[in-house]
Amino acid sequence: MLEAALSEVPDDFTRGGRCCMKPGCVFNERRPGFPGRATEGSVCRWCNPSVLEAAIDGKAGRGHILQSMSMFNCKDKTVY
Ligand SMILES: [Zn+2]
Repeated sequence: MLEAALSEVPDDFTRGGRCCMKPGCVFNERRPGFPGRATEGSVCRWCNPSVLEAAIDGKAGRGHILQSMSMFNCKDKTVY
């Protein structure tokens, strides 16, 4: 199911920026179920504990993280 969905990723998605290199990453904030955008090195912040911790430490970042997490919870049910 996930692999079928991944094959349908539009070209502009794969061309725009680097994607998280961690296998099984599904933390794309705009398209839950797809690999996240690499923000630090070759992985997204969700796959990089130090980046995630730094984001959670900041008030604004924490709100954003929590919002994204609830969004993943909501959308993952339809993704899977
Ligand atoms: Zn990732």
